[in-house]
Amino acid sequence: MRTTYAVGVDVGGTRIAAGLVERKGRMLKEVRALTPAEAGPFAIVDAIIDLITEVTAGVHPGEIAGIGVGLPAQIDFLKQTVEFCTNLPLAGVDMRSLIMSRVRHPVAIDNDGNCAGIGESRFGAAKGVRDFVMITLGTGVGGALFFNGEPYRGSRGLAAEIGHMVVRLDGPPCPCGGKGHIESYMGRPAIAAAGRAAAAEYRGRAIREQAGGNDERVTAEDVINAALKGDEIARQILLDAGEVLGEALVGIVNLLNPRLIVVGGGVGESCPFLVERAAGVIDRNALAGRRDVRVAQAELGNDAGALGAAALAFDEHDSREGLHR
Ligand SMILES: [Zn+2]
Repeated sequence: MRTTYAVGVDVGGTRIAAGLVERKGRMLKEVRALTPAEAGPFAIVDAIIDLITEVTAGVHPGEIAGIGVGLPAQIDFLKQTVEFCTNLPLAGVDMRSLIMSRVRHPVAIDNDGNCAGIGESRFGAAKGVRDFVMITLGTGVGGALFFNGEPYRGSRGLAAEIGHMVVRLDGPPCPCGGKGHIESYMGRPAIAAAGRAAAAEYRGRAIREQAGGNDERVTAEDVINAALKGDEIARQILLDAGEVLGEALVGIVNLLNPRLIVVGGGVGESCPFLVERAAGVIDRNALAGRRDVRVAQAELGNDAGALGAAALAFDEHDSREGLHR
């Protein structure tokens, strides 16, 4: 049977979103809740179930292809298990079975970066592009690699952790426990730390002002807002992050020769100048013949993850039913 809707759930470190999505990517209804991160995995599953129930209210179960769930975690896609999760207590938790035992629909889980990539690939900035790289700049830094229209998952489904590519092994600590990873330089905590250091001095007064005059309370958003209002110190913090991102992307471009790099996530979307700086570094440093790669901002905003998760649920449904997309 060709079903009409899928539910896409995007689980973030701070918020969970669930959307009722049509095959062509139209989101008919979307609901959000805070992630009960401190309350443990069962509370997170409860919150997911509540949102699914709310978003599917009034829809005939037979019309729903399934449920896709994007998690901010490393997922063994073949086994459909959570291997590792930095920001939520989900490591080793069988999220798929836990969710499936509470709903009447098939469930597929994937990494949130892959879901955002699938969303942009089907409905957004990468529509029609078969070989591209997705990078999401937010609290964490995630990503996805698309070869020939499909996400590349690696031998165990753990590929494309772009945020944990090493920039300098003796660099600042990364929330994953490593050192000098891309996320160490441009995850929200890293931007906030750079902002706090600047705000403690006179030169960072505009950033301090954003944080209500208290340099210890500076967040990444305070740095971004100060930069968007024209403060050069804040802007330089973000341009430095763009420089590091560009350096890492030169390696990716030389290695994979993508046609397009899509930069999304809350930080990526609010800082076009950071993305432009990274694009400039690629333009000057990538091997000749590869420099025509386009660097674009994501188009789907906060909805990319949920739309991609819904597309995953449609795909799984269609392959079960022997339908081709
Ligand atoms: Zn890391």
